[in-house]
Amino acid sequence: MDIMDGRDNVSEEQWQAIVDNDTVYDGEFLYGLRTTGIFCKPSCRSRLPNRRNVLIFEDASEAVAAGFRPCKRCKPTHDRLPDQEWADEIARYLELNYARALRLQEIADHCHGSPYHLHRTFKRIKGTTPIEYLQQIRINRARALLQQTSWPISEIAGEVGIPNVSYFTTIFKKMTGRTPAMYRENIQSAEAQKRGQEEEHDEQDCVLDKARL
Ligand SMILES: [Zn+2]
Repeated sequence: MDIMDGRDNVSEEQWQAIVDNDTVYDGEFLYGLRTTGIFCKPSCRSRLPNRRNVLIFEDASEAVAAGFRPCKRCKPTHDRLPDQEWADEIARYLELNYARALRLQEIADHCHGSPYHLHRTFKRIKGTTPIEYLQQIRINRARALLQQTSWPISEIAGEVGIPNVSYFTTIFKKMTGRTPAMYRENIQSAEAQKRGQEEEHDEQDCVLDKARL
């Protein structure tokens, strides 16, 4: 007797995806058939199995480890980038597009995966969610602009893809511990202090030079 017998691990949502051959769910899970030892993508157009015989797997390696073979029809092991490459591709997309207002759905559409799967895979590989990663890029860019330009904060907010200034300020503060205005002020006063010290050094050098004469 199969150890999995009697355990229905198919959710309603997953079952519906299998019934509908729903491609939206491809990449989110795979299903194996106890009766055939074969696993498929949700969209596979093979005959609808008996729900009792269905086993859900997270990915192909899990299915293979359980002794299942990939279906020759839907080729569940063939059409996806390795997760590492995929996560890198998503990161590159975010780095190039941070200045636009991006939603998870849009990122997912562009990077060819469902939002749920993209979120989960990215987090597993990168240790942070795509949205957190995006916000980190934006805040780093905002810090550079606050330091290097005298642009108004509203302009910087727009430039880094968070045009709503109060939302920008909230996120900035959450990630750096300071508001953008405080951040800029601290940097400017630190720089002024540094300049003051350098001038002092110059004076001391002069005194030393004179002493050597
Ligand atoms: Zn199949």
